[in-house]
Amino acid sequence: MNSSDRQQTIQLLVGEDGNRAAVRELLSGHYDVITDQSVTDADCYLVDDHTFPDHHSDLLERVEQNYPVFCPVVVIRREDSSRQLTLANPGEREPPLLVNEIVDAPIDPPVLFRRLDTLLTRRQQSLELRHYITQLKESNKSLEQFAYAASHDLQEPLRMISSYLQLIEQRYGNELDEEVDEFIEFAIDGADRMRGMIDGLLEYSRIDTEGGQLTETDLNDVLEDVRADLQMKINEHEATITSDSLPRVEGDPDQLRQLFQNLLSNAIEYSGDDQPTVAVEAERSGAEWQISVIDDGIGIDPDDQERIFEVFQRLHSHDEYEGTGIGLALCKRIVERHGGRIWVESEPGDGSTFTFTLPAIDAPRG
Ligand code: ADP
Repeated sequence: MNSSDRQQTIQLLVGEDGNRAAVRELLSGHYDVITDQSVTDADCYLVDDHTFPDHHSDLLERVEQNYPVFCPVVVIRREDSSRQLTLANPGEREPPLLVNEIVDAPIDPPVLFRRLDTLLTRRQQSLELRHYITQLKESNKSLEQFAYAASHDLQEPLRMISSYLQLIEQRYGNELDEEVDEFIEFAIDGADRMRGMIDGLLEYSRIDTEGGQLTETDLNDVLEDVRADLQMKINEHEATITSDSLPRVEGDPDQLRQLFQNLLSNAIEYSGDDQPTVAVEAERSGAEWQISVIDDGIGIDPDDQERIFEVFQRLHSHDEYEGTGIGLALCKRIVERHGGRIWVESEPGDGSTFTFTLPAIDAPRG
């Protein structure tokens, strides 16, 4: 769709002494002109500086209600005008964007049409953008539903496989030869791993739909809880975890806990042979916080640094390291739900720094 696909409508709110009839005539060859004198549904509004105050509140309402779709308002400034008009700043994202253009009388038609065309193209682009955003949301939603349904429905047959394998093991374990025993063990191990993956996928598909409210959350408390949950692993690896004082953010405490848990657990897990040292740092950068989890572990090859955030992407076999490959995909989804980004910087053999951003609590959400 582009701006020439349909005739665009302009509502003329110019008064009689603003040369209403002449402006109407000028426009009607090019646009559908609405002449109602109360603000209706149009693509663009033309007022003059005398009628502007009468329509101001209705126009404002229209602009605000349609936000983020752009509704341009053009003021025709008459020669005798003494009114001060200020143009909306096009860089400003928040409504009200009220006066988008001022055209001086007597009207120079090419100038007026050029300006209207620019504004209407912008409106058309904002409509198209909204359309694509809606489509994207819908397709995301159906993918989520698919992942949810698939993982949910796979649970039952998997449970059956696991329990029959266990039954065979319990009942005939003594009678089978060693090789069969080993095969059954592999099969049980495979079923267990598959359960882990299915549970992870279920969790992944619920991040957006079943996430809790975002509330003011102290990340120091979150980290404290995660340390307690990971205490066994910390002791086992004799890991040292240090932390800056962390900020309060607008977040879902359970999901933020999960985020820290996955990152810290990986930082300990992929530490190589040495005792892991992990640092959590926070740095303010404009309207957001950057939180980093820094380890001194095995590091990640630059070629793999993007794909590890995808579902089920792992860089190691199960014999080397256990895991389902869903942890970082969950982290990414959680961070994105909070309006942030996540990435890793690393040199193989020289540790990794996972950094994610979260909007600062005193900054407006975009
Ligand atoms: P999992 O740990 O269950 O395999 P993740 O999604 O958490 O899944 O991680 C994906 C892969 O990224 C891991 O298998 C590992 O190879 C790599 N990885 C994650 N964190 C680190 C880290 N701190 N240092 C080195 N490699 C890491």
